[in-house]
Amino acid sequence: MKFLEEIEVRGKTVFLRVDFNVPLDEGQNIRDDTRIQASLPTIKYLLEKGAKLIVASHLGRPKGQFNPKMSLKPVAAHLEKLLPETRIIMAPDVIGEAVDKLKASLNVGQLLLLENVRFYKEETDNDPGFSRKLAEGCQVFINDAFGSCHRAHASVVGIAAFIPEKAAGYLLKKEVDYLSKITHHPEKPFVAILGGAKIEDKIPVLESLINKANTVLIGGAMAYTFLKAKNLQVGKSLVEEDKLEIAAQIMKKAKENQVRFLLPSDHILATSIESQEAKTTVDSYPFPDDLMAVDIGPKTISEYKNQIKTARTIFWNGPLGVFEVEAFARGTIEIARAVAESEALSVVGGGDSITAIHKAGVADKINHISTGGGASLEFVAYGTLPGIEALQ
Ligand code: AMP
Repeated sequence: MKFLEEIEVRGKTVFLRVDFNVPLDEGQNIRDDTRIQASLPTIKYLLEKGAKLIVASHLGRPKGQFNPKMSLKPVAAHLEKLLPETRIIMAPDVIGEAVDKLKASLNVGQLLLLENVRFYKEETDNDPGFSRKLAEGCQVFINDAFGSCHRAHASVVGIAAFIPEKAAGYLLKKEVDYLSKITHHPEKPFVAILGGAKIEDKIPVLESLINKANTVLIGGAMAYTFLKAKNLQVGKSLVEEDKLEIAAQIMKKAKENQVRFLLPSDHILATSIESQEAKTTVDSYPFPDDLMAVDIGPKTISEYKNQIKTARTIFWNGPLGVFEVEAFARGTIEIARAVAESEALSVVGGGDSITAIHKAGVADKINHISTGGGASLEFVAYGTLPGIEALQ
């Protein structure tokens, strides 16, 4: 994979794919511009080096329909503030005659922001005709949209076939550098922490980690599918009944591989998430029928912390409990602190874990906070991503 700085961009028309999928409020105001800030180094570099810059992104899920609520216009207005020296032109569309005219008249140092690429169904279909239209008039393709690299979409993957020169931007390169370190040559002991609601989206990463990691620490609702698979009665806790078999297989494989696969040994129980109140802490089974687990207990926190202390490499994705509720957040926050205190190379991915890291006030003590939850999980699972392969 080539890197941006290895390519001559002066005077060339550059198609830059970024992830500007920012949260908007009712009044179309940007609530958090982290994603825009994350690609600013690449944008500034390209403008300084004399590129004619075309920028594309998706926002939300408009499902192939033009939807003014998911327009990138607020992003164009924000870019004007962030780049006061630069002429920002908002395109009325993604492709078509009007856009082609704007592309052709673009000057060095100007930035043309295309409309939401997902206004076209062809984007998510990775339609070659659409990819060709996106590539129209462009000599260089730069991908800086790490968070979208696990999707084989037209502006991420398809377009690369129609533009000869291509490379990764700063954000993508940093993600790949860190994730490669933990995926391909992790310094041992490698401790992986996985939480969140469902096993379903985490099967590939679990299967990969039980071959690579020394220790896997499980938390969140996910843990209760594993515990149920061990025939333990977990009350009203969330269990994916259709995943019991795969859960049992994963635990068996971990044992064969001599991977320490730890499940919570004590649990905070509540009548419901909505009750926002912990009823009791238990370390035995069965759980009362009317209670569900909402967080890991103090004994588990201490056991997991001990494992984290021994690590030279840490990968963490997903909260260990319903951390959005104050009374059920302790496990996740304590684990965030332990990861931050560790001397290991630490990589954290996934929106919830990142929120927890910020809540715990330890973001500056984490080596790498990945901008892509799904993308980082898939990278760890498969060692690469469709969007990265397209740049090779
Ligand atoms: P995911 O998107 O799979 O990473 O799941 C994140 C969600 O899992 C968060 O909204 C948490 O509130 C939720 N979660 C974590 N632990 C539990 C639990 N024990 N029971 C129910 N939901 C949980």
